[in-house]
Amino acid sequence: MTWDNTTLFSDDNPADRAFREEVREWVGANCPKDLCHRPLRVDPPELKPWHRKLHERGWIAPHWPKEAGGMGATLTQQIILFEEMSRIGAPTPYPHGLNFIGPLIIDAGTPEQKAKHLPGILTGDITWCQGYSEPGSGSDLVSLTSRAVLDGDTFVVNGHKTWTTNGHFADWMFALLRTDPAAKPRHAGITMLLIDLKSPGVTVRPIETIRGDSEFAEETFVDVRVPKENMLGELNGGWAVANKLLGSERFTTGHPRNAAVLLNKARQVAEYSGAIRDPAFLHRLAMLEIDLLAFSAFYRHAANLHGHRKAPLSMAPVIKIAGGELGQKASELLVDAAGPLGASADDITIGNTAVNPAADLFEMRRVTVGSGTVEIQRNIIAKRVLNLPS
Ligand SMILES: Cc1cc2nc3c(=O)[nH]c(=O)nc-3n(C[C@H](O)[C@H](O)[C@H](O)COP(=O)(O)OP(=O)(O)OC[C@H]3O[C@@H](n4cnc5c(N)ncnc54)[C@H](O)[C@@H]3O)c2cc1C
Repeated sequence: MTWDNTTLFSDDNPADRAFREEVREWVGANCPKDLCHRPLRVDPPELKPWHRKLHERGWIAPHWPKEAGGMGATLTQQIILFEEMSRIGAPTPYPHGLNFIGPLIIDAGTPEQKAKHLPGILTGDITWCQGYSEPGSGSDLVSLTSRAVLDGDTFVVNGHKTWTTNGHFADWMFALLRTDPAAKPRHAGITMLLIDLKSPGVTVRPIETIRGDSEFAEETFVDVRVPKENMLGELNGGWAVANKLLGSERFTTGHPRNAAVLLNKARQVAEYSGAIRDPAFLHRLAMLEIDLLAFSAFYRHAANLHGHRKAPLSMAPVIKIAGGELGQKASELLVDAAGPLGASADDITIGNTAVNPAADLFEMRRVTVGSGTVEIQRNIIAKRVLNLPS
């Protein structure tokens, strides 16, 4: 079978169906074709015109409240927007401004911070990055050691952040920094600062990935002065601010459509290579399609519960684990479907479509690590849901 988003969400109510049709028509007519179905990611500067169009249409921040410039959309509407964009292979805007720091500023920012930062996030003129991970702190983020010391009206920042998506394109970083090294528990000594990356003392270095692009950067901070008014929330209250992020973004990063797109490609490539005639290949394809159907049903149920604020704690970790691992298995099948061509870094051209199985395989490696690894998600389920001992 060929997977379409309607296969996944066949029960839109009439209002949602009408919204889906409106989005489908507008996105199809307005998204620049050369941005669609790119084998490699689209860097933020190239994405800006598309971001601006979505902003002008009023659809850039569906999840933000209307009074903050958003759409005040339901979760189903948010998912419809995501599905209709991914249906034509359109790139989705990066989450760091719109999904991460934007909602945190709306929730915890001063009126001045809101006035200064929210408009640039909505228009896409200002690119943000997330400065949490450090060379010695990833999963155990609370161990972070980059320091911010208050000196009069400014913080003096020294330290090192890494794996910062879009760090080398970003204008601003929201960073977690240690402001009280003696605090017990350790998370009580962490503060969130909004840092202008053009400040003297900041050095940004891109990191090239196995896919051959530069998605990440690392940043060093040497005596960087950050005005106290750039503190988001309370001094030593950064952990609480960071933890206010809802799990909504997991609904797009873990969406079953990610695996559906890869299974469609695997079928297409298998027809081209002849692998489709191999019973062992067909068996693997069928097993993954069954898993995808089951996961889609769970996803739809979870989205419904989340929309009614009744989602259990386990929901976000399960979506992350199941969606990520299913996507990885689908990307492995795609590589196998291509036979010897699967190991090549070059695109395979089938009709008007270019497919790059190796790039998709590498792309999917990231989904079980970024924003909390699947092992850590399993720990969360074990401890907080099943109450198992540490
Ligand atoms: C695509 C992508 C985008 C990212 N973007 C950003 C970003 O924008 N900003 C940012 O700050 N960071 C970002 N990161 C970094 C990401 O948050 C970290 O990679 C992640 O938290 C894991 O940390 P680590 O790499 O230090 O691995 P480690 O924490 O060293 O973990 C190594 C391995 O050990 C396992 N492990 C660790 N602790 C446990 C445990 N207690 N129990 C079981 N297993 C464990 C992990 O699951 C993992 O497999 C990104 C990463 C990726 C892949």
